[in-house]
Amino acid sequence: MRSTRIGLIAAAAALALGASACGSNSSDGGASGGSGGDSIKIGIKFDQPGLGLKKGDEYTGMDVDVAKYVAKELGYDADKIEWVQSPSAQRENLISTGQVKLIFATYSITDARKEKVSFAGPYFVAGQDLLVRADDSSITGPDTLDGKKLCSVTGSTSAQKVKDKVPGVNLQEFGTYSECVAALVSKGVDALTTDDTILAGYAAQEQYKGKLKVVGKPFSEERYGVGLKKGDTALCQKVTDAINKMISDGSWQKAVDDNLGPAGYKPPAGNPPTPDACA
Ligand code: GLU
Repeated sequence: MRSTRIGLIAAAAALALGASACGSNSSDGGASGGSGGDSIKIGIKFDQPGLGLKKGDEYTGMDVDVAKYVAKELGYDADKIEWVQSPSAQRENLISTGQVKLIFATYSITDARKEKVSFAGPYFVAGQDLLVRADDSSITGPDTLDGKKLCSVTGSTSAQKVKDKVPGVNLQEFGTYSECVAALVSKGVDALTTDDTILAGYAAQEQYKGKLKVVGKPFSEERYGVGLKKGDTALCQKVTDAINKMISDGSWQKAVDDNLGPAGYKPPAGNPPTPDACA
């Protein structure tokens, strides 16, 4: 038994050494050149079906497909991507500290965020909506939320919007939307608010079928951008070129059909968007 234990400790030490030798602590989010030999760290959500979802070693969703396409254009094949979980409240920090090079995580372009990071895009336009239990007819829009228990995520535009719009709501903020879904199903909260893309993905999950419904009256415009280091105009331009190419060669539409189609989500007017100029 003793020798097995020592063997395990040695193996763990070797793994730890290997990990740091691979540069997982590097502060530039992976190589900047894009020569193909190095890897690139890309931030996504891990728990949003249809957008960014990790299942074992598999990563799927619209954000994942756009990220793979853009990475390829930058010179990184899919096997050179290191996926990094990027919860809403941590995105600016992950970028500015160099823990990721790019973020594709239902990340709305806003002026407040532009103080800390730059964005390429938008590559998609969604709208904020509400998810409720299927048998609930009392919540039909933001003006019916007074006194209700509403869940959203810290650091999201969704939480900020309801705070501004519905001061009478009892808002609970969690770290991820999947925690909100669990609370909604167990009746800990009455509704969940965020982008309709995300809500449609949850409502279509096998275990929630017939239990949850999206209200279906979007009340904001969420323009999804690719987060990158503030002021890196050259990188912004490369990402923008890749997004334009993805839209014009049909890959964008295929990614929408593959990832959002199964949940019955139809992209609203404004899609596919025209990316902004990189300032
Ligand atoms: N798109 C919104 C945002 O960037 C809500 C979704 C999210 O939190 O990722 O805040």
